[in-house]
Amino acid sequence: MSRRLGSSLGINLLPKNGKWCSFDCIYCECGWNEYGASDKTIPSIQEVADALEQKLLEIVHKGVFPNVITFSGNGEPTLHPHFKEIVQNTIALRNQYVPKTKICVLSNATQLHRSDVFEALMMVDKRVLKIDSAFPQTVQTIDQPAPGYNLGNTIEHIKRFDGDFSLQTLFVRGFYNGSTIDNTTHAEIDAWLTVIKELKPKEVMIYTIDRETPAKELEKIPLKTLEEIATKVRSLGLDTIVTIAG
Ligand code: SF4
Repeated sequence: MSRRLGSSLGINLLPKNGKWCSFDCIYCECGWNEYGASDKTIPSIQEVADALEQKLLEIVHKGVFPNVITFSGNGEPTLHPHFKEIVQNTIALRNQYVPKTKICVLSNATQLHRSDVFEALMMVDKRVLKIDSAFPQTVQTIDQPAPGYNLGNTIEHIKRFDGDFSLQTLFVRGFYNGSTIDNTTHAEIDAWLTVIKELKPKEVMIYTIDRETPAKELEKIPLKTLEEIATKVRSLGLDTIVTIAG
């Protein structure tokens, strides 16, 4: 169940007992990538379809329908090499069993250069894309992307959604690897708002850390600060949700 999305049925396309992500965020609830490296098994297209159909049959039997089917799980769902086919199957099963349920993908937006990923994200009802800072150096420190990541290119790819997406940002302060972390400074927020103005997302989702984080010297951002940031976004005329619990 995701508190940010209403009652949610999760789909994990990543290793059950591991983690696979193109970021290695210092706050990731799945831990560091290296801790999840022992399990590299990902489900096949058929395994995902069978498990989902089984679950949807149970749901129909009980008569309690989820608001949303969410691709999230232990890492970045769009890394699955058959992400598009799996999305197509999921849409077909949703239409068959729970036609009123929406389909959502939580993504760090690192794979948008792949046309199959972009097309799959266009097919779902909601795509939630992560941008934790408008400054490449801050993204480097907080999100620790795999080599080759370029924030400017990612922003250009996100523009192709023409505002039809939700932007998600985690705010955090603390210390990591000798660096001070704070993506809530005036400079950070001003630059982030500039990116938001360019991208015009349907919705901005703001949150902070909730559970134990792999980097140990991190602190939650107080709700008051998150609300102040949200007020600035709302003044741009954009819907904004603040969530303390993740
Ligand atoms: S993008 Fe998500 S799954 Fe990947 S490291 Fe960051 S928080 Fe974890």
